[in-house]
Amino acid sequence: MRAIFIAVGSELLEKDKIDTNSIYMAQKLQETGILTDMKVVVGDDITNLSWIVKNACKRAQLLIITGGLGPTEDDITREAVAEGLKRDLEFKEEIAADIAERFKKRGIPMPEINTRQAFIVQGAEVLPNPMGTAPGQYIDDENCKILLLPGPPHEMRALFDKVLEEKIAPLSNYYIYKRMFKFGAITESETDSMLAELYTRYKNIRTTILASPGLIEVHLLGRSRKTVEEAQTAVDELAEKIKERMKDFLVTERDSSLEQLLVEELKTRKLTLSVAESCTGGGLGNRITNVPGSSEVFLGGVIAYSNELKMKLLGVKENTLKRHGAVSKDTAREMAQGIRALTGSDIGLSITGIAGPGGAAVGKPVGLVFIHFASEKGDTGVYQIFPGERDVVKTRTINYSLSLLRKQLET
Ligand code: ATP
Ligand code: MG
Repeated sequence: MRAIFIAVGSELLEKDKIDTNSIYMAQKLQETGILTDMKVVVGDDITNLSWIVKNACKRAQLLIITGGLGPTEDDITREAVAEGLKRDLEFKEEIAADIAERFKKRGIPMPEINTRQAFIVQGAEVLPNPMGTAPGQYIDDENCKILLLPGPPHEMRALFDKVLEEKIAPLSNYYIYKRMFKFGAITESETDSMLAELYTRYKNIRTTILASPGLIEVHLLGRSRKTVEEAQTAVDELAEKIKERMKDFLVTERDSSLEQLLVEELKTRKLTLSVAESCTGGGLGNRITNVPGSSEVFLGGVIAYSNELKMKLLGVKENTLKRHGAVSKDTAREMAQGIRALTGSDIGLSITGIAGPGGAAVGKPVGLVFIHFASEKGDTGVYQIFPGERDVVKTRTINYSLSLLRKQLET
């Protein structure tokens, strides 16, 4: 099965905005064995878009169009696709009611123009959009399936993932089997040099190494035209070898974020957490509170950036700051104990470091970070020197803290 992708939006033709939707989709399609033949960017123009749609349908079995499903005059995808396929547009009362309900919930009157979003291409299946007002549409047109999705990437992703699994993947003539690992405390190149010799032996498995600051993901994708078992056997064999070789760095085999895993672990152990952050500026608290239900275990925290606040809010001693400095094991310890005392949480986690580019001193390079955990059982402190720019040091620190605390809880 071959796919053509169309990104709609005049802004995507200018310098300010790039089409990232196609990158996301091409990868996901490839994982199901579907290859993308062409990517096209079209401005908000009915004539051009309907021409592309008409022709693309003759060349590919799958056509995915994102953007231009909004309520405004320049949102022309519905009209253009209808014209390209020589179908009418149909008004759907249910969609209109649904959109009106959304506005009602937000306490604002629905602008008249939003009723435009209730039109669908005749015969299309409506794909409800939990993240926005424009629903997606799925059209089965003889030899070509056409998928219309909203442009905003987070809306597109939610809809695409679902429709890919339910409708598109079953059309592919490949069986796919996937596994993934997340590793911490190791770099991308170290990971590759430890694994390359292994995975190059498995020609039918696509191995991808994805790096983000402080976290490396390894994805294994097996494809078979015969059976899923054939794909699985090979992937499992390689996965076990990788696991054995990388066991010291393994964070998880699940597709969950570090913060999700930590929150789960805290819940299982019925423990509460609070944080005292200096150089991460609340970034750790932000990540933890991104997890739905984190309020069950996360009490809150203090951003104590200045020495004054470290003393005033966390009880760090003036003497400690004078003797050891704000970026030191001793200050980190007092911060962790201080936040625990202040909030009454089971665990207090503190972070103090030098994110750079300035701030280095003799024996204290940029990237030096102290992380400390205080609990009833006593406390533990570690330090790391993280490479990278300011934001990278912060992200690495947060990732490291999340995975280290989870590891500590497990032991
Ligand atoms: P809306 O109801 O928000 O108007 P829409 O379906 O009409 O949704 P657009 O108006 O085309 O979508 O785009 C909405 C936002 O999504 C814009 O900020 C746009 O830049 C972004 N966007 C659209 N298409 C893409 C794409 N292919 N890649 C990345 N961002 C995109
Ligand atoms: Mg729009």
